[in-house]
Amino acid sequence: MTQNPARTDHEPLRRIRDEILARHRFLITSHLKPDGDSIGSQMALAYALRAIGKDVRIVNCDPAQPGLLPFPGVSDIEIASRADGEFDAVIVLECSELARTGVAGLERFFVINIDHHAGNAMYGAVNWFDGGAAACGEMVFDVIRSLDVPLTKEMAMHVYVAILTDTGSFHFSSLSPRTFDICRQALEAGADPVWVARTVYDSNSIGRIRLSSAILSTLEVDPSGRLATIRLDREMARATGGSYDDLEGLINEPLTVKSVLAVAFFKEWEPGVYRVSLRSKGEIDVRSVAQQFGGGGHKNAAGCTVAGDLAAVCAQIVPPLLVAIGRSAQTNG
Ligand code: AMP
Ligand code: MN
Repeated sequence: MTQNPARTDHEPLRRIRDEILARHRFLITSHLKPDGDSIGSQMALAYALRAIGKDVRIVNCDPAQPGLLPFPGVSDIEIASRADGEFDAVIVLECSELARTGVAGLERFFVINIDHHAGNAMYGAVNWFDGGAAACGEMVFDVIRSLDVPLTKEMAMHVYVAILTDTGSFHFSSLSPRTFDICRQALEAGADPVWVARTVYDSNSIGRIRLSSAILSTLEVDPSGRLATIRLDREMARATGGSYDDLEGLINEPLTVKSVLAVAFFKEWEPGVYRVSLRSKGEIDVRSVAQQFGGGGHKNAAGCTVAGDLAAVCAQIVPPLLVAIGRSAQTNG
């Protein structure tokens, strides 16, 4: 095998392998509003556990985004806000805290926590945190290899979609040679990168294009040209026929402007409550800004939920973002 033993032969991974082999009934879950990494990691692991005879149920609080529905097995994921049934272990992927699952009743079980979000609360009976993984899918790949399960086409597709989406299509600084080594192995096992990219990114409805155009027309850029903001409210979605659920990747548009180093996307979630998505380039740490508002994520992709009207929410978020941009400019200068 061509893998780096330092990454695949270590205590948390050995322990996870042993606990999986010793148990039979599994529940796999991930975070609210599951993204490509959540779904890809869950499905790849589910296929691997089933390949060695395990009984696996996948339960999420929210459905997968539309672009992920054509992937194998995704339509069988159960949507529930409670874990009903008996399980020998619950595997929680991509969650820095158990509450991020939105699924109640998990603490009754033996919890295996596998995550790459900085600040993971180590809430499991077994915890494997790797902040250097570009996607949780990289960690799941290691679990599959440690179980000696041959990588099938289905597993490979899911590992690949996890990495593709969680790296912002290979844009983020979390990328490593290992990321590409895993992608290479996924392609060798039958993942079709063209089909995956077309399916996740090119499955738009007309409503999405109209809504995207309305959102991008709200673009504002600060006088330095480095911070862009866009916004979305309920009325825009109603008027265009677009849905909040299929805006994956839109936040990256303003980042394609050369001068823009960070983007904030303000989404009206309910009256007086905004979900704020943050993205950045290079060393600019938007996670530290999200954390100031009770959120989290990664250096280049983070989010938080803030109460208030749009002007008040912007007035809170924009200054710390400008500070983060300025801090990085000093470090690099
Ligand atoms: P999003 O902008 O929703 O795509 O989220 C970007 C990243 O930030 C993902 O890794 C999310 O898991 C994380 N994130 C978003 N909102 C929150 C939150 N309220 N608390 C913790 N992490 C979050
Ligand atoms: Mn992830």
